[in-house]
Amino acid sequence: MNGEPIAVADGISAPYREFAVGDAWGRAWGTTWFRLTGVVPPEFAGRHLEIVFDLGFDRSKPGFQAEALVYRGDGTPVRSLHPLAQWIPVSRTAARGERIEFFVEASSNPLILDDDDPFRVTLEGDWATSNEALLYRVQRADLCVFEEEVFDLVHDVEVLLELAEQLPAESTRRARVLVGLGRALDRLDLTDIDGTASAARETLAPLLAAPASQTSHRIAAVGHAHIDSAWLWPLRETVRKVARTASSMVTLIDEHDEFVYAMSSAQQYAWLKQHRPEVFERVRQAVAGGRFVPVGGMWVEADAVLPSGEALIRQFTYGQRFFRDEFGIECRGAWLPDSFGYSAALPQLLVGAGFEWFLTQKLSWNERNPFPHSTFLWEGVDGSRIFTHFPPVDTYSSQLSGAELALAARQFREKAVASSSLAPTGWGDGGGGTTREMIARARRLADLEGSPRVSWEKPDAFFARAKEELPEPPVWRGELYLELHRGTYTTQHAMKQGNRRSEVLAVEAELWSAAAAVRVGHPYPYDALDAIWRDILLLQFHDILPGSSIAWVHREARDRYADIATRLEDIVGSALGALGAELDPDGDLSVNAAPVAAAGVRSGAIDAAAPARVSIESRDDGSILLTSGSISAQIDADGLVVHLIDLASGRDAIPAGSRGNLLQLHQDFPNLWDAWDVDQHYRGTRRDLAEGASVRVEGTAVVVERSFGNSSIEQRISIGLDGAALVIDNRIDWREREKFLKLAFPVDVFADTALAETQFGYQTRATHENTSWDDARFETHAQRWFLVQEPGFGVAFANDSTYGFDVTRVERDGRITQDARFSLLRAPRYPDPETDQGVQTMRVAIVPGADVAAATATGHLVNASRRTVRGTALGPLVASSTPAVLVSAVKLADDRSGDLIVRVYEALGARAHATLQVAGRWSDGHRVDLLERITGAVPLTQAADASSIAVDLRPFEVATFRLRRVDSGR
Ligand SMILES: [Zn+2]
Repeated sequence: MNGEPIAVADGISAPYREFAVGDAWGRAWGTTWFRLTGVVPPEFAGRHLEIVFDLGFDRSKPGFQAEALVYRGDGTPVRSLHPLAQWIPVSRTAARGERIEFFVEASSNPLILDDDDPFRVTLEGDWATSNEALLYRVQRADLCVFEEEVFDLVHDVEVLLELAEQLPAESTRRARVLVGLGRALDRLDLTDIDGTASAARETLAPLLAAPASQTSHRIAAVGHAHIDSAWLWPLRETVRKVARTASSMVTLIDEHDEFVYAMSSAQQYAWLKQHRPEVFERVRQAVAGGRFVPVGGMWVEADAVLPSGEALIRQFTYGQRFFRDEFGIECRGAWLPDSFGYSAALPQLLVGAGFEWFLTQKLSWNERNPFPHSTFLWEGVDGSRIFTHFPPVDTYSSQLSGAELALAARQFREKAVASSSLAPTGWGDGGGGTTREMIARARRLADLEGSPRVSWEKPDAFFARAKEELPEPPVWRGELYLELHRGTYTTQHAMKQGNRRSEVLAVEAELWSAAAAVRVGHPYPYDALDAIWRDILLLQFHDILPGSSIAWVHREARDRYADIATRLEDIVGSALGALGAELDPDGDLSVNAAPVAAAGVRSGAIDAAAPARVSIESRDDGSILLTSGSISAQIDADGLVVHLIDLASGRDAIPAGSRGNLLQLHQDFPNLWDAWDVDQHYRGTRRDLAEGASVRVEGTAVVVERSFGNSSIEQRISIGLDGAALVIDNRIDWREREKFLKLAFPVDVFADTALAETQFGYQTRATHENTSWDDARFETHAQRWFLVQEPGFGVAFANDSTYGFDVTRVERDGRITQDARFSLLRAPRYPDPETDQGVQTMRVAIVPGADVAAATATGHLVNASRRTVRGTALGPLVASSTPAVLVSAVKLADDRSGDLIVRVYEALGARAHATLQVAGRWSDGHRVDLLERITGAVPLTQAADASSIAVDLRPFEVATFRLRRVDSGR
């Protein structure tokens, strides 16, 4: 069989044909079932037997090539097979003549990332374009005796040799270990290894018994497999990867009392529950026994800069809800070893969701600046702090090698006062997990002279000890910017657009559904919203949303985003209909789900809009003037913006003689990691697309068309968003390869920082390169907007579907100005050779004369749905009295009690007082954490048809309230 996965029962009952060692099997992405049968021969009676089944593995790491799950004849999974675990347990005391039968479900996954020739363009990343030739050849299928004494000797020798290699050349310990190893090998008869292994081990025993020194570093080994939920394999393969790894790990737990294994991502447990319930049951038992430890508390290990604030919160609520429902536990720590940078908004959200610690590994990938702490307090944009560990072992797939352990001890930054670091131990990325060899090493490393001490430990126990050791940890303030993978803010535009659209629509669907439930008793679509949120959260996985997966993954994700939009539009339409507002493109009322007023319609209201008046005028010099009551923009005959004036101040955002809306095309050929990286040298080449445009007027818009390379772009330039913004709708037929497209605006503002929106707030970043840290941030990210401002005047840049941007300082006529640029599209060829080819759309908005409040409003409005309805006007369910405090979410509680959840945040970075008015009758109100658990009561001021809550917020504070309805009957 060579196709998509089939049910296990079908695999076991399928007709089998003869297959010999040396035969080829498995086209790319195919599934092949093997049946292994045999009889225990007389000479093996009573022995510890295993089958060695080599599917044609090469010796490179597991998870990137063929792999398999082994079953018994009754369909129960036994364990997985991968290049470094090719064994199947048969019997500890085999009986003569015993029949042996196993079934092996093998995946012939192609090697996409070849360590010998990495990042080579390949068509193997999708079923349709992949090779039909057979990829693997079975190398071995042998029934073997497992000699424990030989296994032990191998690990005695390896551990001591690797230790010696790390010790100083002049060290006494090293000299003695090397001599001891020599003597041990002298006692080994190579023609009788079984018979002489014990003698060799006796020689080594004293060396292994010498204890570690009092100040030796302490490694908390945590069994782990960092399984990417999709990457160089499709989602459906990850479902099986999780089953393979988990089945092996529960077996290791059964066999080794000291072993502890940690697995993140509720989604992966949910897959296991659905697809391999027998394995899930074993996991459930091991969780109850405290040996299989759910970590992270998130739905997936999401990207940690691109998701919206609400989406990050839902990663926690859906993740923790799963762990609570299935295992009766909540994770106390957040576990994101591999995401590409960490937003400064995270500490507040982690603390607010009840987490006590945070772990990441990825900062060891920084190109320029080594991160200065291993264990520290991470302070977020609002001042929230969370205890954080960044393991000095520099990998989330530790093997407990001598080199790794020595590196961890050497690199541990807090060694003057503390001794402990964590090592996630086991094969990761594509799964595999911990091996019995690692457990054997850990035993010998528990207390060994010259080595850090190693013990298996639960992450919570490690963090408790680390906190105790370091009562006054150093503090790192602000984002954990990864000095690498800067292309992931832009690559695979459809992921960014799909994510943004889904996040906005999901919050809108909750808002109207909650309003309809409260006001007219419309049934709240709990199940539908839960299912949709889980889809959105899955697609935020740290290789899907960043755009770093194979074509297969992104093709499926595009389809899922389209499906999510359809389902959410249905929910919105149904809720609005229940509220007496029928969707109608010609309707006379506007629906405003944004947290700010839009064209005179209040946030959360349905009302007649009062659109701003815009005039357009063609001039003799070929330029076109667009004017509203707030701004004017002049577009020249090349389609470029020569003036963008804030009428209130009279100031022009564009420096004299400069032109904005300038598309700039760079060669973009990173040294490594094509989809991930924009290397600084990309700026060395640049082509300004200033000439050859056709410019025409259509209604009150200027339409600019231009061609470049094999591509073309149509821009519709208009004044929108209440007349305050120059809005540019871009439609790009993108046919470039290895190019980076930027949209540039020179800005006549003197500033040494730019503000960038984070989740629930903003941060500043330098626009200069004074330090290596500033210089390394040559390409950065924002949520919906960034702002370049000097006291009294700023220019805001917002968009509906991109995240990357850069701001640089430029001297013009002896004055310092800025160049602000949106990153629009890239075209890397690995791992998806067709990345972003075809038509892409994105809307950007530029507001001259903007401050943080205006930038925030623009960010919301440029992303807001634009709907008109027929019916009667309706006020908001929840209204805030000040634009500093914005409503982030209005929904019914996750516990389905019918309580209303209202979340607000302070957006301007100042202290704020607001009154929240909630329509309807409410019996009591509480402040709750992000998991909707009560943390305190809040007084409600009752009026006839509404209740109000007085709110005082710190800068950037996120606050969630829970209200009970008078008629809820509870
Ligand atoms: Zn990963």
